[in-house]
Amino acid sequence: MFKFKINNIDSNLNVSKNFIKYGNKLIFLNTNTIQDNRLIYLKLNSNCNISCTYCYQSKDEKKSEEVNLKNYELVLNKELKNSDNDFVLFGGEPFLRSNGDKIQYIFDLLPENKKITFYTNACYTSYFNDFLYNNKNKIKELIITIDGPEQIHNSRRRMKNNNSYKVIMENIKFYLQKDLPFSIQVNLDKDNVESINDLLQDIERRFHPSTFDIVLNKVLHTNNTLNEIRLLKLFLDIKERYPTFRINVNSVVLAKIKNYITNQGISRSRCKAGKSLVLDFSTRQIYTCPQSTGTHVGFLDFSKISILEEELKDVFNYCNKLENKCSDCLYVNFCKFGCYIDRRDIFKNCIKETTDEIQFILDNFDKFFELKLSKTAK
Ligand code: SF4
Ligand code: SF4
Repeated sequence: MFKFKINNIDSNLNVSKNFIKYGNKLIFLNTNTIQDNRLIYLKLNSNCNISCTYCYQSKDEKKSEEVNLKNYELVLNKELKNSDNDFVLFGGEPFLRSNGDKIQYIFDLLPENKKITFYTNACYTSYFNDFLYNNKNKIKELIITIDGPEQIHNSRRRMKNNNSYKVIMENIKFYLQKDLPFSIQVNLDKDNVESINDLLQDIERRFHPSTFDIVLNKVLHTNNTLNEIRLLKLFLDIKERYPTFRINVNSVVLAKIKNYITNQGISRSRCKAGKSLVLDFSTRQIYTCPQSTGTHVGFLDFSKISILEEELKDVFNYCNKLENKCSDCLYVNFCKFGCYIDRRDIFKNCIKETTDEIQFILDNFDKFFELKLSKTAK
């Protein structure tokens, strides 16, 4: 039972009986499992036009042979038309000159009701701007990753003979002029977290920050990873200091608690690994976590995809915390554990960390959730 206040009224959250007590009112919460679409990542290559000091893909197999996507027309048509699939295009960096025709080919096959999300370092020259503008109706969102203000960003994201930060800022100007959908993901760890104010001030000087989203995201799988509560505190602090910004935070625990108390439902899974498929056209392998080719779950042929069901199930079970002490844990629907790549860490202080994080979120309920509980909960 977690005790906290909503609008200064004493409240409790009971995660074993699934209710919130708000003053004298009992509000029962929806415990249906949230059903998501399958994410299909279309990976054209592992090549990139910049080098990041922490790149998790630096050891990936790099194939220089030319991929002819037309050979995969049957596979692409089948997957792109499947209404249960959502699509992400990533690399390496997707917007390399050599990928232009391939991305156009995917756009041409894409059904009218589908759009694609892109992860990009936005360090391409103006070559891709007209291309993106001409295909604007096929783009769900361009997610641009930035590591800090100019000096910090450029030291972590090195672009040969160019200033990657300036190139990004020019491209953002273009997106705003042409109304292209985009958001900025700020990658944070212990080394660059102190520089976030300089970055936000620079963004404020250049643009109207109320017109796009900025997401705080912690770099994972390093010794410098930020503590979750520190990230959440930073988020609240920035929300207060920059009220005109549209700031969000990538926090698994916060997202899960928000879904729960707003009656969207619950989910045991850490992420979509075990369900997602990364179709790597350059190696013809299929894996299920976009951050690790080590999560191999199948093979890509010209006419079909072949899935190794046992391997896929193994990752799914881990990410859904089905095969260990988590089965009896009260916090299985809220904790951030279950990353298949970090699997050795799952039991370390996990319950204490999770309850501290939930309590922190509830202690700041009014700041995190700009909602009227009586309107959103049944
Ligand atoms: S808090 Fe720990 S024991 Fe509980 S579900 Fe998460 S990882 Fe499992
Ligand atoms: S397995 Fe880990 S790295 Fe991969 S998507 Fe899930 S949380 Fe992210």
